[in-house]
Amino acid sequence: MELPSSSDLRKTFDSMLEQQHNGVPGVLKVESETPEPVIGITAMTHGNEPSGLAAIWYYIRNHRLQRLLDVTKKGSVIFSVNNIAAAQDYFRLPHSASPLQKEKCRSQEVNMNRLPEDILGRQSDNRREIRRALELCEKVFAGLDGGLDIHSVRTESRPMIVEVKGKGMSAARRFPIDIALTNMIPVQMGRPLSAFYGGAQGNVPVVGIEAGQHERRDSRRYAIQCTRLFLQELGIIPWQEREKPDSMPGYITEYRVAKGVTPPENGIFHMAKEFGMFEPIDPETILLTQADGERVIRAGMQGCVFMARPVSMSLPSTEEACFLSEPAKQVARASFGNSQVG
Ligand SMILES: [Zn+2]
Repeated sequence: MELPSSSDLRKTFDSMLEQQHNGVPGVLKVESETPEPVIGITAMTHGNEPSGLAAIWYYIRNHRLQRLLDVTKKGSVIFSVNNIAAAQDYFRLPHSASPLQKEKCRSQEVNMNRLPEDILGRQSDNRREIRRALELCEKVFAGLDGGLDIHSVRTESRPMIVEVKGKGMSAARRFPIDIALTNMIPVQMGRPLSAFYGGAQGNVPVVGIEAGQHERRDSRRYAIQCTRLFLQELGIIPWQEREKPDSMPGYITEYRVAKGVTPPENGIFHMAKEFGMFEPIDPETILLTQADGERVIRAGMQGCVFMARPVSMSLPSTEEACFLSEPAKQVARASFGNSQVG
């Protein structure tokens, strides 16, 4: 499969800035003869996560998606660059900028995956990401019939499927990924932007992926493959004969999220060490330590730690420093998503 270079992603970002849909910049709609269902493929909800642009690059190149929709004559696809302002900060950095500088481009004022639950009523909240999320929710995302939100992670990691809502997990069961994170939304602080796809109360299929490490070429491949499989599964683009297995063999390893760990407000805390993705923990494992004091925060449970912040960073009390999951469980791929609820 042909993959975009970093400069291709930057050009894709620049060309998306010139697009708009319903007056909302950074959004491109590609339609068939029958406009519905409308499926969203979204990138850069965090400004330092460019791999979702690979899917946009792939499908707008040579009108690839338009030609496929001309065959199926079914549905339309909305591509969105969600956090334009933070992504601009990211693309202004030289490619050689440090990981910490890039990490700071995740968001400007509000993490778009930690939005206030009452955001749809926040007409006078002028923080940049709140304004952007509101215009996207009201004019673009409320009308979605399904969505795939593409993210990536800081550390070396295999790709993951992330449960959002509806039958999203079932629509993701053919993704070439064998790790799934479930129960994230009930546990995390605030709401991810993707929870508003199809409306706050809508139960359309929405799923996320963590495609791998932010700037790895592999992450771009996963972004493209999962976009293709998601659109195929929802009947928007055709299957190719050789890739239509009735049931895929194998298992998916499910990590059910149990809790987020947030530092206390009084005191400066750091991660106790650099934690790897899904490193096993027991109740005594020290997760966080106070910089100038004696206090430590222990795991208090058996399971795994994941998405831990870098050890060099002082941890804000407004966001999770890491998450803990129950011990991993194997789920048959063929029945994956059947038991999930939205
Ligand atoms: Zn992200």
